[in-house]
Amino acid sequence: MTALMPISLLGLPYDLNSSYLLGTAEAPARIRAALRSDSCNLWTEDGIDVGQPDTICDLGDLKLPSDPEAASRAIEQGVAHALELGHPLISLGGDHSVTYPILLAFHAKYPDLTILHFDAHPDLYDNFADQRLSHASPFARIMEEHLARHLVQVGIRTLNQHQREQARRFGVEIITMRNLAKFAGLKLDGPLYISFDMDVLDPAFAPGISHYEPGGLTVREALTIIQSLRVPIVGADIVEFNPLRDRNGQTAMVAAKILKELLAAMLHAGTVPPTNWP
Ligand code: MN
Ligand code: MN
Repeated sequence: MTALMPISLLGLPYDLNSSYLLGTAEAPARIRAALRSDSCNLWTEDGIDVGQPDTICDLGDLKLPSDPEAASRAIEQGVAHALELGHPLISLGGDHSVTYPILLAFHAKYPDLTILHFDAHPDLYDNFADQRLSHASPFARIMEEHLARHLVQVGIRTLNQHQREQARRFGVEIITMRNLAKFAGLKLDGPLYISFDMDVLDPAFAPGISHYEPGGLTVREALTIIQSLRVPIVGADIVEFNPLRDRNGQTAMVAAKILKELLAAMLHAGTVPPTNWP
C-alpha cells in the first residue's frame, strides 16, 4: 500500500462537565492501552495495518485545568495547535463537553463541516443544571454558533420536548434508534466530523459508560455505519467512555475497535476501500 497521511491522536482527560458521574478523564490512557493490547492486532477489518510507523501520530494528552471555562479554552488551543500539522485528528475524551471547544478549533480551519453524531442523547439542552458547558449541551453551543453546516444525529433514544424544539430550531437531522434503517438513505457531504459517544451502543456491549440507556446500537451496527461512509473525514472524537464502570476492560476494547475503524475510514479519505481484501 502507498504511504498514507498520518492521523493525529490527542487525549482530552477531562470529566468535570459531567452531570452524573466522574471517570471519563481516565479514558484516553485506557483506550491507548487497549489499542496496543497483546490480545489483538492493529489491522483494520479492510486490511490496513495502523501499527505501521507514521500511521498514527500520537500527540499525548493535553494538560487541562479543572475550571470548565479555562479547560475549554485549553482544549480549543490544543486542538488548533494539533490541526496545524495538517493531518486529520481523532480526540479521545473525556466527557462530551469537549466536543464544543474541539469544534471551535475545527471551524476556524473547516468552515463548512458536516457533523455525524453518534449518541443515545441529543445533547442539545440550552441550559442543563446551569452549566453552559455541560456534557448535555455541546451541540446547542455548536449549532447556535454555526460551527457546522449540518448536524446529523444517529442512535438517539432519549428525545424530550425541549430537545425536540432545539433540534427543529437548529435544523438537526435526527435518526432515532427506532428508525435506524433511515441511515442508509442519508446523503452526507464532506468534510465530515464524527463525534462518537460510547453510550450510543447498547450497554450490553459497552457497560463502561455513565448513562445506561438500553436499546442501543450493536457494535456491529456502529462499525457498519462507519465503514459505509464515502466522504473525507477530517476529525473525530470518542467520548463518554467511563473506565470506572467498565467490566474486564470490555468497553476499552470496544472503544479501541471503534478507533481502529475510524482510522480506516479516515485513511481511505472518502474513496472506496480496496476490494482485494476479504
Ligand atoms: Mn453525548
Ligand atoms: Mn450520551
